[in-house]
Amino acid sequence: MGTLELKNLCKSFGDTKVIENLTLKINDGERVVFLGPSGCGKSTILRMISGIESVSDGQILFDDKDVTNYAPGERDIAMVFQNYALYPHMSVEKNITYALKRNKIPKEDIEQRLHQALSILDLNHLKERKPSELSGGQRQRVALGRAVVKNASYFLLDEPLSNLDALLRVSARRELLHLHDMYQHTFIFVTHDQLEAMALADRIALFDKGEIQMFDTPENVYNHPSNVFTARFIGTPPMNILDAKYEKNQLIFESKLYIDAKTLNQQNLEPYEGRSLLVGIRPEAIYIKEEPTGIRFEIEDIENLGESYSLIGKINQQMLTVKSYKRPEQSVVNIKFDMSKVTLFDPNTEMNIEER
Ligand code: ADP
Ligand code: MG
Repeated sequence: MGTLELKNLCKSFGDTKVIENLTLKINDGERVVFLGPSGCGKSTILRMISGIESVSDGQILFDDKDVTNYAPGERDIAMVFQNYALYPHMSVEKNITYALKRNKIPKEDIEQRLHQALSILDLNHLKERKPSELSGGQRQRVALGRAVVKNASYFLLDEPLSNLDALLRVSARRELLHLHDMYQHTFIFVTHDQLEAMALADRIALFDKGEIQMFDTPENVYNHPSNVFTARFIGTPPMNILDAKYEKNQLIFESKLYIDAKTLNQQNLEPYEGRSLLVGIRPEAIYIKEEPTGIRFEIEDIENLGESYSLIGKINQQMLTVKSYKRPEQSVVNIKFDMSKVTLFDPNTEMNIEER
């Protein structure tokens, strides 16, 4: 078993509060990704889970057992750091087995775990080499191997792929998924990269300034963001957030542009009659129309994304990004919003109005 529970977890460095009252429950064998901008506290949380960092307040439970004050060695964890350091004078094989030998694991057991790790990570042909004779990606695999052979219930990874180039990262992600399939450990992966999070997570825990913004499946985080921060953090280019007023079944942009809102959930909208709202719509949920009806969109910049174009421009005075598979011929086009993909936020709390 490997459930993990954080209860009102707090961490301060001197007078600076980094984590405040974090409560979170992770299931046995689940793949959870801690995502958020640099400095939001992801590593601090992972380090508290591992026991390397002390807790200022609150509790950490492994399988309902309070381990808050346990030393790292007393917790059933394996950890891979961003700046993993391999022993430079040891071969791949020795790097992977060093900790096991030190912990007096029986020799046969070590051999078997080593063999499995070398074959899963495709390191068999490199086992005699020293770290200086390996590429970045191969060193990364050795660092993973070193963690894998511990056979721990909890696998904690802090931005382990950030030193790899883009192509290697994609294959390393697949290797991680295979590892998880094999070992089924409870897996917590820290990253600031939303694509990596989407690719690896059963559930994403999105953080900002030490506070959890949303904890849900990648699909829900993308399609039903809980607040404006989540909407803007996930997706490239990010979701458009526009100011509007709601009146008589219509969204009104700068008292000029009216969009029919009858298809939106009326019950949620009732309290907003005559008031302002934030309208969230993703660039791919806006379409360019052939006929000259719809919303007038003035294109200012076109960014080529390879498979598509990002059109950046204005409707009235508000900036908007539209995704298009064709490069438009004119700088002014007519567009249409897919109203089934609109998300509305309260302008004061910035919360999704369905979450109120
Ligand atoms: P992340 O991993 O999300 O980039 P960290 O958990 O490393 O963020 O850091 C969160 C905040 O805590 C940052 O503002 C950082 O400067 C601060 N911090 C981290 N470790 C220490 C420390 N040992 N002493 C003081 N401040 C720290
Ligand atoms: Mg970090």
